[in-house]
Amino acid sequence: MKAEIITVGTELLLGHIVDTNATWLAEQLASSGVDCHQITTVGDNIPRIAAAIAAALARSDAAIVCGGLGPTQDDVTRDALADVMEVPLVRDEQLLERIRTKFITAGRTMAKSNARQADVPVGATAIPQHLGTAPGLVCPAGSPPGAKVIYALPGVPAEMKEMTLRAVLPDLGRRAGDHGEVIVSRVLRTWGLPESTLAEILGPRIRELDEMGANPTLAFQASGIEGIRARVTVKASNRATANALLDREEGILRDLLGTAVFGLDSTTMEQAVGALMKERRLTMALAESLTGGLISSRLVGVPGASSWLRGSVVAYGPGVKQAMLGIPDGPVVTREAARQMAEAARRLLGADVGLSATGVAGPDRQENVEVGTVHIGLAGPGEGHEVLSVRLPGDREQVRQLAVISALDLLRRRLISA
Ligand code: ATP
Ligand code: MG
Repeated sequence: MKAEIITVGTELLLGHIVDTNATWLAEQLASSGVDCHQITTVGDNIPRIAAAIAAALARSDAAIVCGGLGPTQDDVTRDALADVMEVPLVRDEQLLERIRTKFITAGRTMAKSNARQADVPVGATAIPQHLGTAPGLVCPAGSPPGAKVIYALPGVPAEMKEMTLRAVLPDLGRRAGDHGEVIVSRVLRTWGLPESTLAEILGPRIRELDEMGANPTLAFQASGIEGIRARVTVKASNRATANALLDREEGILRDLLGTAVFGLDSTTMEQAVGALMKERRLTMALAESLTGGLISSRLVGVPGASSWLRGSVVAYGPGVKQAMLGIPDGPVVTREAARQMAEAARRLLGADVGLSATGVAGPDRQENVEVGTVHIGLAGPGEGHEVLSVRLPGDREQVRQLAVISALDLLRRRLISA
């Protein structure tokens, strides 16, 4: 499966901006097992864009064109696509309505020029926009039509990336299958190691794989409160061989990353915790302060949670912590309070494990404690107890979300070692 990248924009040719889109796309193709054979940059000019696309398609199976889908006069990628495909552009009324709605939702009125973004070459399908306004396009090409493909993506990096991950890479994977090639990925979900540490641990293995011909390939993707994903991609002639290669690489990576790996693919932290609770036949109870029920809310989302989750005491105000959980008068954002809350939840709700979170979500300091300070208490299983104190970055919402996942991860690690 061969692909090429074409970035469009006179500002790229003038050296006004750096072509980070091409770099990012090239990296994505490489880590998805698609061979990128050429990267071309072309100005905002219909015949030259059309010529670049035609040349790419003569050599490769797919062309990814990026930029020039906006509403202004110099955004002419659509016209070039219609030229290459030898079809007219038609206005898609449904698409126009969606773009108009986006403007209305944002409290703006749509300029007339924006209607051009609903123009689609006959035979092409739109990739819906989730961030901005310009939809992307998937255009059948080659002969018979559809044997090859052109993807057109917006130039704005965030929009381009989002569409590539959501629509382009999965479609390229399906097409590779039609070429008698199987490209399969597996994602190891990790929590607890910063990206730089992960890069350091996996660096030697990545270099080794590169020397062995980059199959499998390895890439990371940081995804905020969901941790860092390490994605392994293999290319093989059939699924069984691909899976065997994936199994082997997964084993090597698990040895390197140890307990930082909490699951595979779409497994969430709460699912990982739920599976361990079930396996160990344990029950748990929560005492939540700054998370206000978020920990239990995520756990309740796991089917079958009722067999291991007793419940949660949302003890937000200090008075509630004292009256309901028996925490002594005094400061409540302390390690001791976290420990007592966990013990109390376990005792009150009759569970094997108690988990608690107390801290300062912000925006203001509290009890003279810095914003982002969070103490997580864990009581049980058995006699032991543990308190984890962390300083979490970000705004109120992020601190609360990070507190949730930190608490769940503390419990997960305890359950693995118990
Ligand atoms: P818009 O709707 O914003 O006009 P567009 O699809 O027409 O989007 P361009 O006009 O080509 O895209 O680019 C929009 C902005 O995205 C540019 O001003 C630039 O900041 C950024 N951009 C475009 N192409 C690239 C690129 N290849 N690498 C990095 N940034 C880019
Ligand atoms: Mg533009």
